[in-house]
Formats: sequence, C-alpha cells, structure tokens
Amino acid sequence: MKQYFDLKENIEEKNIEEAGKGIQKGELVLFPTETVYGIGANGLEKQAVKRIFVAKGRKQDNPLILHIADMEMLEQIAQNITTLEYKLMEAFWPGPFTIILERKPNVPDIVTGGLNTVGIRMPSNLVAQKLISYAKVPIAAPSANISGRPSGTNIQDIFEELSDKVDYIIDGGQCEIGLESTVVRVIKEEVHILRPGKITKEQIQKIAEKVVIDNHILGDLKPNEPVLSPGMKYKHYAPKAKCMLIYSKENNKLVEEIKERAKEYENPLIVCHHHNINQYENAKVMDIGETLEEISKNTFKVLRKVDSYHPDIVMIEGVEKEGIGLAVMNRLLRACEHHYIEI
Ligand code: AMP
Ligand code: MG
Repeated sequence: MKQYFDLKENIEEKNIEEAGKGIQKGELVLFPTETVYGIGANGLEKQAVKRIFVAKGRKQDNPLILHIADMEMLEQIAQNITTLEYKLMEAFWPGPFTIILERKPNVPDIVTGGLNTVGIRMPSNLVAQKLISYAKVPIAAPSANISGRPSGTNIQDIFEELSDKVDYIIDGGQCEIGLESTVVRVIKEEVHILRPGKITKEQIQKIAEKVVIDNHILGDLKPNEPVLSPGMKYKHYAPKAKCMLIYSKENNKLVEEIKERAKEYENPLIVCHHHNINQYENAKVMDIGETLEEISKNTFKVLRKVDSYHPDIVMIEGVEKEGIGLAVMNRLLRACEHHYIEI
C-alpha cells in the first residue's frame, strides 16, 4: 500500500482525486460502498483488471461488476438495453442493485469472464461515486476479500488480508448495508434474481410483473450444473470452523434444538440474536444483532471473527427468508456449506 486515506469523518476531495488518478494509471484502490468494500481498478484496462484477480486469487471465469457514476458511462459499456431494464435502473440506482446487460465490445473479456454480458451497478455511497467520477472510467470492483473468505465491511477486518495487495486504501468506516448488491438479469421480460441483497423481490415486483428467484440461491449446487451467474459455483464466506445453520419460526424450539445439539461438542460457539444471548449457559456466544438490518450489517463481521474462538462447532441462528432475510440466509447457507436444519 502506498497511501491510506482516513475519510471516516470528513470526505477529503483531494484524497479521492489522487486515488482516482491511481485508477487511471492502472493501480488498485480499496474503497467503501454502501454494500461492502470493493477492490477497484480501471474496468476498461485488461492489465489493471488482471491485478484484481491476482490480489484476490479469484477464478478467471467469475466475472466482475463494473461500477459507474452516471448514465453516460452506462452507454459506453452496455447495448440493446430494453425499456424494462431502464425502468429497473431508474428505480434502484444509485443503490445496491446490479443488472446484467449485453456488453459493448470495449469491455475486456477478463471483466466478463468471456461472457457477452456485463454486470453493472451505480453505487450510492458518496466516496464511491466521487472515486468513479475522478477516475473517469467504470471501476471494476469485486468484494474486498481473498476469494472464499467473507466480504470486508470495514477496513480493520481486511487490513491484514489485503493491505499489501493494493496501492490505495480509502477508509470510509463501517459499510451501511453489509451484504453485497442484489444481482438481476432480465430474460424475456422476466427478472431473475441471481444474488439476493438489500433490494428485495417485493421491491422489484413493483416495477416488473414477473420476478423469479433463481433456484441456486437457497439450494445446493450439483457438480457441473449450469448456472446463470458463475459466482454461484464457488465456495464463499466460509470460516475455517465447521458451521451449522439452524432455524425455527418459534424461538423456544430454536433455542432448545441448539442446546441439545451443542451438548455433543466440547467447545461450541453459538451465533445468536441479541434476545437470545443469555439462553446458552454452557457455550460461548456471539451477538449478531436484533433487527434484520443489524443482522445483515454484522453477518460478515461475525463470520470473520468466529475462528478466533477456536470452536469445534459454530451454530448459527437463522432468520426468516423474507425481505433482506433472504440475502442473509443465502450468505449464511454458503458459509455453512448448506449444513442447514429447519425445525
Ligand atoms: P462480487 O464481485 O464478489 O460482488 O461478485 C460479483 C457477482 O456477480 C458474482 O457472483 C458474479 O458471478 C456475478 N456476475 C458478474 N458479472 C456477471 C455476468 N456478466 N453474468 C452473470 N453474473 C455475473
Ligand atoms: Mg465476492
């Protein structure tokens, strides 16, 4: 790392301008967005984008999202956009919403993993917006983490992992949402949700008649099964410890089930809702929050911390798969490698 900019309290334009110039020169910038931190590079330069894949150890066929600051940038990289696609962008941009569109030829293959489509998002975070504007190019930015690890939602969590791999770090404090963007693709007027996020099915249904949640969001994937989004294939968010996700609509049942199962282990760690922190006397507990907003914000932070307790099992209390709860459960299921019990 050449420069660390602390913009937690004040947004220093000249710092963002410097990092934007870095992007133009092909350098890597770790920066905040409203969802999670991103590792950004010039999205139109093959060599710059290549550095992201090396830094993360990311598989080459897993495409990156291009982040834009305005609709002019959209027209540089996407074509044959339909009315419905424009409506969706108008409704959810700037914000935690990514849309897969037909790409223009100037988008390098390395960004799209060789697909003829490209994922595009206009973030609402002010630092992210300004960085893209100063860079004057779409910024390719995957989540800030080594591939397979939980995404970074604050600089402390990822400093050790990534500080020697990037040129600039912009610290914007804790990310507001804490889970990655909702990813959609429109196929024949149907909106397919490929990754759930803060923008929910219910919100999208106000814009589009048909909204489909892709099967793979909650189901486990069979080897070589075809997918609409390459990212679905890869192991993600998993702590080193063995993890188990448990859910019941009834809180008493949930607590009893976890207590029973915890007896089988020597050093269990229970990740629980705030209201359950005093329920598990014979186990270590971590509080994941109370409201769905708190839980989504804390999910990756908690997943990054569980290994420091050296547990022989991590039992995680699930949430209802509704609204942003679907996104929380999608990330937790993957962290637990689909080791899931619903009672
Ligand atoms: P991340 O960069 O960690 O936020 O992940 C980006 C996600 O978007 C991954 O799951 C990718 O597979 C997905 N994605 C990006 N571009 C495309 C595309 N053109 N088609 C389908 N999925 C995409
Ligand atoms: Mg990621």
